[in-house]
Amino acid sequence: MPNYARHAFSPVDPKPAKGTVLIDRRDKRKTIEAHEDEQKAIVRREYRRCRWPHCENCRRYQPRLEVAHLDPKGQGGDHGVRSSADRMILLDFLTHQGADGLERHERFIEPLTTLGTRGPCAFYVKRYSETKAGAWTWHCVGVERSVGVLDSTITDRQLSAAQEMS
Ligand SMILES: [Zn+2]
Repeated sequence: MPNYARHAFSPVDPKPAKGTVLIDRRDKRKTIEAHEDEQKAIVRREYRRCRWPHCENCRRYQPRLEVAHLDPKGQGGDHGVRSSADRMILLDFLTHQGADGLERHERFIEPLTTLGTRGPCAFYVKRYSETKAGAWTWHCVGVERSVGVLDSTITDRQLSAAQEMS
């Protein structure tokens, strides 16, 4: 005998009203955006200059500053984690989004402590092999002793294994 039973309607947990899902989604996005704006404001307040060591872009062009994410979209956990102040850093827009910038994965920033970018970081650029086409390694261009203060005693630092794996 066929089963004509329908899903029981529960007056306690009724089907949401039309548009509720859309509104929820918008509210959630607004909350995420508000969180990101707040965290970006912290990054701008804590260090008011480009963090890139001896930044050539800043010296030559004085580009505007931007808050950059260390983790590309879709990585670094959920949106909230990716956009927390300790996973973002202030850079000029060329160093951030330029042809040889962080977003193009031509540069890499490695936080050295659990403070993330709110503590000392190491800065790397991709250095391409002159003999082997396509081959490259990360070349360290600066290591901080504390935020914005370079440690001149460290001149050649290998990227830590954990970071290299990610
Ligand atoms: Zn810069």
